[in-house]
Amino acid sequence: MARIVVTGGAGFLGSHLCESLLKDGHEVIAMDNLVSGRTENLDGFFHHDRFTFYEHDVTEFVHVTGNVDWVCHLASLASPVFYQDHPIKTLKVGALGTHKTLGLAKEKDAKYLFTSTSEVYGDPEVNPQPEDYRGNVDPYGPRSCYDESKRYAESLIRSYRDQHDLDVRVARVFNTYGPRMRLDDGRVVPTFLRQALESEPLTVHGDGSQTRSFCYVSDLIAGLRALMDADVQTPINIGNPDERTIQDLAEVVIDVTDSDSDIVYEGRPEQDPDIRKPDLSKAREHLDWEPSIPLREGIERTKVDIAKKSHQRDQQDEICK
Ligand code: UDP
Repeated sequence: MARIVVTGGAGFLGSHLCESLLKDGHEVIAMDNLVSGRTENLDGFFHHDRFTFYEHDVTEFVHVTGNVDWVCHLASLASPVFYQDHPIKTLKVGALGTHKTLGLAKEKDAKYLFTSTSEVYGDPEVNPQPEDYRGNVDPYGPRSCYDESKRYAESLIRSYRDQHDLDVRVARVFNTYGPRMRLDDGRVVPTFLRQALESEPLTVHGDGSQTRSFCYVSDLIAGLRALMDADVQTPINIGNPDERTIQDLAEVVIDVTDSDSDIVYEGRPEQDPDIRKPDLSKAREHLDWEPSIPLREGIERTKVDIAKKSHQRDQQDEICK
């Protein structure tokens, strides 16, 4: 049994990682400042005697008593809508939060896992993106608070590895979706699902020809766990290579929800990447892991969660009337 700190523990990915670790008998200390995370994501674990939660902002000094075997730094504002609303917080959690959590790992002689992002590749000029592609990021662009915070974090992690011999893992996470995303998350899958379920038009940005490759959350978590078990100290892509246009995604969502919604076409956000698809060669070689949940099945599963949240919001609105 290991003692594992998870930052961003009340978030979408963080709560799923906590669940997976608890299931395997580990002790989990979750931290979250609850800016985008929600304690309701942890409802199933509070009773657990191997689970502790601290409401804490990891850009401030992080203290944990006793031994720690792993520090998993997942805290971040991952949705473009959220990180553009909180650009300074986003930069701080990538820079100061990574510094503080690396310091904790060094102090405790713990291993360190970081969830970086496919956004380190920016608006890519190669498809799919292998880990040695250096990216096409505008340092002064509208997405730079997120992209550069993660790029800086990778650099800091590499420096702790070189200078302090810290045992590190860096996962470059590609678009992930599934239960526990917020109704107002802003990312495309929960947005389209909510719109389809509420018979609103689906808001496709641009003509919908831009692509993303969507990974279901349980596959992503299995990839992170495989990375923790492997000895790969350099960045590694974790995602699903099933590349889809946003138009295609909208059609799948309408079909799965049996919705009568139309599709409307809106302006494209500035510097929205045209393409994104992980090259998984390195993950396949080192992790013995492969995503297995097809898009339709993942959308079916996520639909149940979004429908529940939509219903709960309607009930709350009714009570407040
Ligand atoms: N998108 C869209 N409609 C929406 C939300 C997003 O067409 O209501 C598009 C967005 O412009 C991008 C893609 O869907 O091209 C994925 O966006 P998301 O915010 O999910 O994540 P990103 O990959 O951009 O970080």
